Amino acid sequence: MQKEQFTMKILVINAGSSSLKYQLIDMQTEGVIAKGGCERIGIPGSVLKAKGNGKEKVYNNDMPSHKVAIELVLEALHDDEIGVIKSMKEIDAVGHRIVASGEYFKKTTLVTPEVLKTLEEKTFELAPLHNPAAATAIRACMEVMPGTPMALVFDSSFHQTMPEKAYLYGIDYDDYKKYGVRKFGAHGTSHKFVSQEAAKFLGKKPEELKIVTCHLGNGSSISAVDGGVCVDTSMGFTPLAGVLMGTRSGDIDASAVEFLARKKGLSHADMVTYLNKKCGVAGISGVSSDFRDLEAGMEKGNERCKLALDMFNYQTKRFVGAYAAVMGGLDCIVFTAGIGENTPYVRAGVCEGLEFLGVKLDLEKNEGKNDGGIRDISAAGSRVKVLVIPTNEELVIARETAELL
Ligand code: ADP
Repeated sequence: MQKEQFTMKILVINAGSSSLKYQLIDMQTEGVIAKGGCERIGIPGSVLKAKGNGKEKVYNNDMPSHKVAIELVLEALHDDEIGVIKSMKEIDAVGHRIVASGEYFKKTTLVTPEVLKTLEEKTFELAPLHNPAAATAIRACMEVMPGTPMALVFDSSFHQTMPEKAYLYGIDYDDYKKYGVRKFGAHGTSHKFVSQEAAKFLGKKPEELKIVTCHLGNGSSISAVDGGVCVDTSMGFTPLAGVLMGTRSGDIDASAVEFLARKKGLSHADMVTYLNKKCGVAGISGVSSDFRDLEAGMEKGNERCKLALDMFNYQTKRFVGAYAAVMGGLDCIVFTAGIGENTPYVRAGVCEGLEFLGVKLDLEKNEGKNDGGIRDISAAGSRVKVLVIPTNEELVIARETAELL
């Protein structure tokens, strides 16, 4: 029994509207045996880039649907050259990343026909691009690997511990009850992973620590993790809330949204698309949503690139301060994801002026090279530890799936 559990291999699937990323993880070592991604599913020119056995292979096969994509992924896992398994039976379970759960799912859930029905009937409108793609991928897996257990692992599960006073909006309570409009948060697997890694790194139990985790990527969210559980997070009903992001506005007065829509002659739906796709640091800078481009622009003297970066730092810092207040203290700040792991300007900007909270950054360490490991960038004597921790959302999905089984 024990042995079986230790040799478990879990396939993690992260399906987007036209993409599908996967990793096959050996749960004994928690190492990645094979991984890859399909792009342009349903669009001409689809491609799968797959890695296994230390080699990479590119499949330029037509992928009109997620089902065909899944079939191709399984083919790659069996491939003579890059394949890592001999039979489908070697895959013990599949963990699917699901963006939105609404109030229908609180934790990692085993896929059954009823569960799939609820996912399809209740949650699509909460994440219209991601959840339908995930459901299609699940149905495709059920067809090509019948009998293999599957789990739904939700981005929002880690945030389910938020108290009501943190997740409610100041709207009519009956409307909250009727429509389920509240804060759900996102990037939960990442916040969970890095907060646990931080505790391990510091040689403490998660229960002993008050941590602010900053997942700063193209989408960014900040969480307050008190005693190992999430007590607040910056994203809301959808990932549009919180700090300004690559192309998302972040928090904005709802009346300003209505005012802007009227001035620009945009429908409700178009206005939401505008706030998701045309705003954020891309909108402020007028240059790019990519922080590398913004830094390059700033170095050349582009004031709006600098403004976009400084707004991002300022808004992130505001959440760090707010969450220290919410938790009544702060032991550790964690930076993770593309920007958090790679952009010293942001980490320095967020920590600057937080000395009153006991935060002291070592500027030299902050500028140090990203070696892919955990880095302590706080100065000697800093009461609050500042850590850079590479995130690993796939591993959390695999762990949750293994635990469920
Ligand atoms: P997401 O997963 O939300 O699409 P990422 O976590 O990959 O986003 O973060 C993307 C952001 O990280 C971009 O703005 C990019 O500029 C920034 N970044 C900065 N340096 C690097 C780097 N060396 N590698 C990857 N992303 C980087």
